[in-house]
Amino acid sequence: MRIRRTASLLVLLASLAAATSAHQTRIYWADEVPTGWAGVWAPDLLTVAERTHYTRTVSTIQLHEWIAALKLKSDKVHVVNMFTSPMRKVAPAIVIGSPRITSPQQARQSGKPVVFLLGNIHPPESEAAEALMMVARDLATGKHKAVLDNLIVMIAPVYNVDGTDTFVTQDGSLGSETPHIQGIRENSQGLDLNRDAVKLATVEGNGLARTLNTWDPLLFLDGHLMSRVNHGYANTYGTTTVPAAAPGPRDYMHDVLFPAVREMTRKQFGLEVFSHALATPNTFPPQAWSHDRAAWTVEAKFVVNDYGLRNRFAIITETPGQPTFERRIYAQYAYVTALLEYVAAHAKDMQAIVKAADDKTVADVLAGAEAGTLRNFLDGEYQSAGKIDVLAYRTNEPAYKPGTSLMSTKAGTASGVPETVHNVDDLTKPVGTRTAWVPRAYLLTADMADIAEKLRAHNIKVTVTDKAMRVEGEEFVIDTLRKVRSAGYDMTTLDGAFRKVATKEFPAGSFYVDMAQPMANATFYYLEPQARDGFVGWWVFDEHLKQLGAGNKSGVVYPVFKVKANKAGS
Ligand SMILES: [Zn+2]
Repeated sequence: MRIRRTASLLVLLASLAAATSAHQTRIYWADEVPTGWAGVWAPDLLTVAERTHYTRTVSTIQLHEWIAALKLKSDKVHVVNMFTSPMRKVAPAIVIGSPRITSPQQARQSGKPVVFLLGNIHPPESEAAEALMMVARDLATGKHKAVLDNLIVMIAPVYNVDGTDTFVTQDGSLGSETPHIQGIRENSQGLDLNRDAVKLATVEGNGLARTLNTWDPLLFLDGHLMSRVNHGYANTYGTTTVPAAAPGPRDYMHDVLFPAVREMTRKQFGLEVFSHALATPNTFPPQAWSHDRAAWTVEAKFVVNDYGLRNRFAIITETPGQPTFERRIYAQYAYVTALLEYVAAHAKDMQAIVKAADDKTVADVLAGAEAGTLRNFLDGEYQSAGKIDVLAYRTNEPAYKPGTSLMSTKAGTASGVPETVHNVDDLTKPVGTRTAWVPRAYLLTADMADIAEKLRAHNIKVTVTDKAMRVEGEEFVIDTLRKVRSAGYDMTTLDGAFRKVATKEFPAGSFYVDMAQPMANATFYYLEPQARDGFVGWWVFDEHLKQLGAGNKSGVVYPVFKVKANKAGS
């Protein structure tokens, strides 16, 4: 360990506590990066950030040009166009394989899992985009050979292509003033793509979902930037926290993968990283490590949270805003590189966990749905996972984010070497609260074709009945329909109660959603009338509910029937 001569005793103690690895790992704090960390590359393979000394970020056309240069120098690259945006920009995903992989069928036949890495869902947070291009360059040119021996890596550095190409001058609200010119958070419709995961109201959301449906990534990563923070970590990570998601993959992330990759990032890259949260309160010393001010909830509206409903692994990374752009790119690059090495070394284990989650999801439905004993979570909350040590700043000064009423950290404070604070309550454990019975199937009448299409867009299998069915089950009777303002959205909220129905007949041509499928957890969460943010919450049923008169008259039945059993003789 090398300590700067100006270091105080406190700083020294904090550094010693943080550098707990067996080797004397040098930890890079604040803006520090290792000299020459990005490597030496031919001019046409340099990223925009590298070419501009970390003052500019990539545009969509520059990304396409850069990919063309990469294809000339690598036999491992294939490009998938995920969608053409409303502004006629093509969003590419680079498929990197050794040997090269050009279709989902080839990927499946290879036996190697696909890992999918996404950048610029929020274009002002472009460090992941820049870092992911560097990771793509490493892999395509033969670095980290073990990764491609075991994985197929798909990298979409720029997802929100229209927001990226808006080119506005930075206002500094996210932290450091670089890059000077960048995109805006929303797409061209003014919609936040990281709130679109359930409703899929955007071309971009549907294009990403189509890509995920066909390539079926084992692991999905989405890279972000926080505004200024009061903790001392170079990068932070979280996984799905929707309580309805299968616990197997989520528990593995929390208990096994995250601690291991944290250690790898420390040892190989000299960075301290930890879970995605903020120190609370915003004064020193903090008492809790919590999502309260980090906008992260148990809702499925976030792409990473939603991806967990597919029984797959999902990671969000959030690097802090106050360090330099180069340092933030380094932090994303380091974490993703360590992660890929970990996943490559444990691919078989992780594939087995996902397969077990798929199998258990189906087996649980077959065993418990008709009996009425299978339940799943509609909502949840964060509870204590115990006491932890966190790295926080004594120098942190709370201040409003410019132009908002959101409390953040004053520019120029909370920098340098942080201190270790002991016995901080880790309030990040997602725990399910309200539950509902999981049915054997959901049935919708033929006029619900838009709902069936939305389910299919999410990779959920929906069939059309070829003869009339008589079923026993439950239906939800709506008392009131309310709009509840939550995190900037007017969420549709239904009050009412389920009632048992001995026999109901559905004509041929109805939509039948058999829950004995791996997507059962997602189906349940989207279709249950009182899920925290399912289809009802995200307005997907609004037009149907309006036509039925929900909220204006009593006794309106929610148009999704929960099937307990098919009646004999039907
Ligand atoms: Zn973001």
